[in-house]
Amino acid sequence: MTSQTPSDCLFCKIVAGEIPSDRVAETERSVAFRDISPAAPIHVLVVPRRHESTVGALAASSGDDLTDVFRLASQVAEQEGVADAHRMIVNTGSKAGQTIFHAHVHLLAGAAFTEGRMV
Ligand code: 5GP
Ligand code: ZN
Repeated sequence: MTSQTPSDCLFCKIVAGEIPSDRVAETERSVAFRDISPAAPIHVLVVPRRHESTVGALAASSGDDLTDVFRLASQVAEQEGVADAHRMIVNTGSKAGQTIFHAHVHLLAGAAFTEGRMV
């Protein structure tokens, strides 16, 4: 799996404010900002401030950070008025569509989920 060091990691730069983003919420541990290329009317990325390449690596290294990411994603869903109608998606590995190797959760909402259940 590709790994990036924090110095060349886009999301580390967004967390640090070195690259601008449309931030919608944050905690001491996590930051939520709108995806630059939204796949749904509401598309927010929630990332831990601390660099880990995948959600699995985050879970292994800090359960508190992992919990905070999902708690913040749920808070943003409430904030956006979609607490009862959203999806959280995690892509792990380039073969599954992961392009940024800093752990993140996609919060998607605001469109009909026409495909219905995925699993
Ligand atoms: P992945 O494919 O790794 O699961 O998700 C990475 C996401 O980051 C993609 O949905 C992509 O649109 C988003 N993204 C890539 N570059 C930027 C950026 O510079 N700013 C923001 N806000 N999102 C980005
Ligand atoms: Zn990073």
